[in-house]
Amino acid sequence: RELQIKMAQGAKPGEGGQLPGFKVDPEIARVRHTTPGVTLISPPPHHDIYSIEDIKQLIFDLKNVNPAANISVKLVSEAGVGTVAAGVAKAGADKVLVSGHDGGTGASPLSSIHFTGGPWELGLAETQQTLMLNNLRSRIRLQADGQMKTGRDVIIAALLGAEEFGFATAPLVVCGCVMTRKCNENKCPVGIATQNPELRKRFAGEPDHVVNFFTMVAEEVREYMALLGFRRMDDLVGHSDMLEVDGAIEFWKARHLDFSAVFGRIGGGARRCTESQPFDLSGVMDDKLIERALPALSNRDAVVIEMPVRNVNRAVGTMLSGEMVRRCGGAGLPDDTIVCRFKGAAGQSFGAFGAPGLTLRLEGEANDYLGKGLSGARIIVVPPPDAGFDPSENTICGNVLLYGATSGEAYIYGRVGERFAIRNSGACAVVEGTGDHACEYMTGGRVVVLGKTGINFAAGMSGGIAYVYDPEGSFDGRCNLEMVDLDMLTDAADIKELRAMIQKHFDYTGSKKAEYILGHWEESLALFVQVFPTEYRRVLGRMSKEDEAAEREGVIDG
Ligand code: SF4
Repeated sequence: RELQIKMAQGAKPGEGGQLPGFKVDPEIARVRHTTPGVTLISPPPHHDIYSIEDIKQLIFDLKNVNPAANISVKLVSEAGVGTVAAGVAKAGADKVLVSGHDGGTGASPLSSIHFTGGPWELGLAETQQTLMLNNLRSRIRLQADGQMKTGRDVIIAALLGAEEFGFATAPLVVCGCVMTRKCNENKCPVGIATQNPELRKRFAGEPDHVVNFFTMVAEEVREYMALLGFRRMDDLVGHSDMLEVDGAIEFWKARHLDFSAVFGRIGGGARRCTESQPFDLSGVMDDKLIERALPALSNRDAVVIEMPVRNVNRAVGTMLSGEMVRRCGGAGLPDDTIVCRFKGAAGQSFGAFGAPGLTLRLEGEANDYLGKGLSGARIIVVPPPDAGFDPSENTICGNVLLYGATSGEAYIYGRVGERFAIRNSGACAVVEGTGDHACEYMTGGRVVVLGKTGINFAAGMSGGIAYVYDPEGSFDGRCNLEMVDLDMLTDAADIKELRAMIQKHFDYTGSKKAEYILGHWEESLALFVQVFPTEYRRVLGRMSKEDEAAEREGVIDG
């Protein structure tokens, strides 16, 4: 019911997360759609968010795939957070979270906790005041976290403007955490942050302990409310005038601090959320798609839908995919049950979160974020037959395609923009050329590039395989070799896999280049470079032959 866009973490703003390979056991690998043993790097920035407009687009995409979910945006408490929060409110988020620096697991570097983020109190006060000044407070709920421990913390946060409160470290301690700060090392002595079965046996936490803790927090909150003369939390929210500096603090550094701006109260307007965001999804193209796909959604009858598409049609296929999963489960529908054929220029996020059983074929071009979070659908993009240009030399899709894809296929008869297939963990794609930073942080899946790539290819790539057609022999100068090896193709299974993917690309798009390569297979094969993450190769070496074969079959069969 709630989806959160985590822009940053209060305890380590500007840093991503890293799950070391030794912690990625089969269960985690299943959930994260990756291969056991392969390190997972969550990049510090969102590669699809460079501006408030980009956040707005992601909120739109998420609202499409799950219209019932509330969207929260997590921000870090620091100077200026109020301005960002105002942008987030205008972008349509239902909630904004101001996260303080004190929290974080033992994996957060102490230097980051101490010296980067700020206390939640300051960020919260700034956010509340900025939202009120801009008449935005009534339509967004304000959340706060960052090592909240007591009912007193809740009361102070509420008086500064928060309506929801996040607890993490304190309940963890209640479950037995002894704060050894080794969460990232798989050596948690009390069996919480570890996948080691021996250490996990030591876990002694009980749900009742947590229930007890929160009951006592609630009791303390109730006592403070009685002391302050409030009957309902709603009345308390934003009453910052009830706060004052403790006059008994005589520490010399604290003597001259002026808290008037923090405790200041903006007059007039709502102090808390009193209405829902005016987010209107009516009129999206997927309304028509869902209506025409009803035979498939209800009876699993195959349907083919043909429609023109324009660049104002954003997230085409996304709401339909959400509906498919709601009705048919995560496995979706059998292959090609719903085939949608479009002509024109598609707007942003074409096919985002596309579900299994959905095939989107676009004759024309697409904007940014095509196939974002792809989850099993097939996307085919070809230029119009009368385009008059060589598709293998021209870009027909924008930036950040297949970002965060977990499964599915994409065949694009043309070049694509920058940041292609970043954080792909299972989708298979064939394109005719890419911009810079393709396959960055990829953890699984297969990518075939039949033309020139941009620079920084495969930076941080820890899993999956990419095949790059490199007749000029210059690809190594554009590839980031920190985590990958570049090889000639010699393994029969790899060659079979590559050929199958190019054959599919030709079948779906009619690509001239694919036709040439298939027709001159032996000489073309020698011009392919295999981009193989060193860690992934090591893990594959440890996998049983059956598991490895099954993984490859998944690629070949889609
Ligand atoms: S006890 Fe476990 S969960 Fe707590 S800080 Fe140490 S490693 Fe992390």
